Amino acid sequence: MNHISINLTVIISTMQHAIDINGKKITPAYSGERAVCGFCKQEVIGKCGEIYIWHWQHVHNADCDLWKEGETKWHRDWKNKFPLDWQETIIEKNSEKHIADIFTPNGIVIEFQNSMISSSIIAEREKFYEKMIWVINAQTFKDNLITENISDQQLAEIDRRYSAQRSLLSKHNSFGLQNTKKKQNVLTTEIQSREDALKGLESVTDLFKSYNKNAETFAEQIIITWQSENLFVDPSLIEIISDDAIPAKKSFFRLLRDLKRNKHFLSAALENSVEIEELYKERNEILNEIENLKPALKEELKSVASQHLNREVEIAQLKREILFLKWKNTENDKELEELKISIDNYIKTNLKKIEADFDEERNKILKDKNKLTLSWKRERKSWGSAAAPIFFDIGDGYLLYKHPNNKASRVKVCDFMSKYNPGER
Ligand SMILES: [Zn+2]
Repeated sequence: MNHISINLTVIISTMQHAIDINGKKITPAYSGERAVCGFCKQEVIGKCGEIYIWHWQHVHNADCDLWKEGETKWHRDWKNKFPLDWQETIIEKNSEKHIADIFTPNGIVIEFQNSMISSSIIAEREKFYEKMIWVINAQTFKDNLITENISDQQLAEIDRRYSAQRSLLSKHNSFGLQNTKKKQNVLTTEIQSREDALKGLESVTDLFKSYNKNAETFAEQIIITWQSENLFVDPSLIEIISDDAIPAKKSFFRLLRDLKRNKHFLSAALENSVEIEELYKERNEILNEIENLKPALKEELKSVASQHLNREVEIAQLKREILFLKWKNTENDKELEELKISIDNYIKTNLKKIEADFDEERNKILKDKNKLTLSWKRERKSWGSAAAPIFFDIGDGYLLYKHPNNKASRVKVCDFMSKYNPGER
C-alpha cells in the first residue's frame, strides 16, 4: 500500500489488492477499474501506469490502516515472492484490525519495514500479531551494521582470564604456608643451638667428674700435680682454669720456681758452710709461704671446679627447653601437613570449578563460532528491543538474521523463502 503523507492526519492509501463485486481478491486490470478496499470498505480505483506496479488507489483520501507506511518497490518485490492469498491479509482481533503484509498458512505474520519505527510501535505490533517476523530494509544503513567473527578473540580472552585465575589459585595461602615453614626453620635452629650448648656443658662437667668426684678433691689433686713438678694437666682443664680465675696461681708458681732454684743451689753448696745454712733458711721460708698460700689457692680452685660441677640445673633447664621445642616442632610439622592438605584440597576443588566454568564459557563460544557478532556504529535502539525474529535485508540476495545476544548469521534469501514459503519449490 502506498501512503502519501499530506499532513499529519490525511493519507492517500494505495494497495495491490482490492475486493471485486463477487468478494474476490483482485489486482487491477486497467486504469479506472472500480473495486472496494478490503480493509476500510471504501471505493478504490485501478491505476495501471508504466512506472509503478499496477495498484489500487482510494478514491477519497482515506486513513485506511494507519500502520501501513509508504509502500515502495522494495515492499512490493518482497510481497510478490509470496502467493497472492497470503498478501495484504486483514487480521482482526478484539475489534481492532490491521493489514498484515504476509500471513502464512502457519499463522505467521511477516512485516516488511522500510523506515525507522519506535520501540513502542514495535512492541504494539508484536503484541497484536503475536507470531510474527520482521524483515527490515537495511540496504540504506547496512554500513551502520558491523558484523565480525570475534570467537577467536573471545577464546583468547577466556584463555588469558582463566590462566590468571589458575595461577592465582596455585598461590592460595602461600603466605600461611611460608610462615609455617619459617616457624619450622626457627624452631630447628633454636633446638640445634640448645643441643650444642648442652653438649658443651656436659663435656666440661663430665671432664670434671672424671677427674675427681668433687671440688675439694679436684683442688687438692691439682695442687699435688703442680707441686710434684709434673705439670701434666689435662689441656682442656688448663683451658678452663684460666689464670684470671685463680689469682693465687701466679704467686704459687713463682714460689715453686724459687724452691727449684734453691734446691739447685743447695746441691752445689759446700757442707757446713754459711751459704748452706742460709739456703736452708730460705728453703724453709719458701715452704712456709707455699703452705700459707695453699688455702687461698685451694679455695680459688674449688670455686672454679664448683662452677663447672654445679651445672645440673642449667643442663636440666636446657633439656626441658629442648624437649619443649621438639614438641612444638612436632606440632608445627602436623600443622604444616594439615595446612598442605587443606591447601591441596582447596586448590583441587576450586580448580575443578574453574575448569567447569572455563569449559562452559568455551563451549558457549564454540557453539556460536560460526555466527557473527552484530554491533551498530550508531545503534538503532528500537530494533534492539524487538522480541520477534528480525531479518535485515542487506541486499545482494542476503539477509542478516539477528540471534539473541547480538549474534547474527547470514541467510540466503532463497533459504529464507524455502523456510517460509516451502510450497514454491
Ligand atoms: Zn482502505
